[in-house]
Amino acid sequence: MRKKILAANWKMNLTNIEAESYVEAFLNEIGEVNDVEIVIIPSFTSIPTLVQASGKAPFIRLGAQNMHWEKDGAFTGEISATMLRALFVKYVVIGHSERRALFGETDEMVQKKVHTALEAGLRPIMCVGETLAERDAGSVQKVLRRQVEEGLKGVIADRLTEIVIAYEPVWAIGTGRTATPAQAEEVHAFLRSLLVELFDQAAAGRMRIQYGGSVKPENAEELMREPNIDGALVGGASLDAHSFARIVRASEKALN
Ligand code: PEP
Repeated sequence: MRKKILAANWKMNLTNIEAESYVEAFLNEIGEVNDVEIVIIPSFTSIPTLVQASGKAPFIRLGAQNMHWEKDGAFTGEISATMLRALFVKYVVIGHSERRALFGETDEMVQKKVHTALEAGLRPIMCVGETLAERDAGSVQKVLRRQVEEGLKGVIADRLTEIVIAYEPVWAIGTGRTATPAQAEEVHAFLRSLLVELFDQAAAGRMRIQYGGSVKPENAEELMREPNIDGALVGGASLDAHSFARIVRASEKALN
């Protein structure tokens, strides 16, 4: 049984002060949640604030939006896995399409980060997804195969439960254009079969695959009802505590 994982990727939004009021509003609305896993992924500067605020709500997990693959050293402006662990961060987003497109993150860097994160006890949320041009060219499976094979190279099957794949079609991120549940499910089922091929049936069956791309309260429930969709990585609609709380509620509804 794969527990659904709902993650709020705030990107470069919300100050530490705004983060504090967000958590207060979110907790007031949500109460306690145990059936789905909730991860909040703020900017680095808000992580300490969230550690404090989520002290009242141990079911909320913390994530980071990025990290460097080296353990330490002369890498001005970078953040290490150990630094994140010291702040009780549990998840780290790796290879988000914005980092791939805007900051030159490659499959090789993603692979190094996945290994460093696992070594440090962090759980990678590894993002994969095709552009619109790649979809139109009929290359969805080819692109995803490359991203997954490269990203997970050298990882042993036993560790797949510590990794989450986020399938995020680039054309659906921040565009308001969501993949239909059937489109998303088709790709998730392909990713699952790819994991069986690369690892084994049992490990592939345990690994969680999130969907990301314009998830909102209105479409969350039907997406979460799909058998191979194990949660959501939410950008824009997670910036408002009320909206993210509604997505959590909609996902809980999909469990029944
Ligand atoms: C994301 O940033 O991972 C994302 C899916 O963004 P949005 O929900 O805004 O499309």
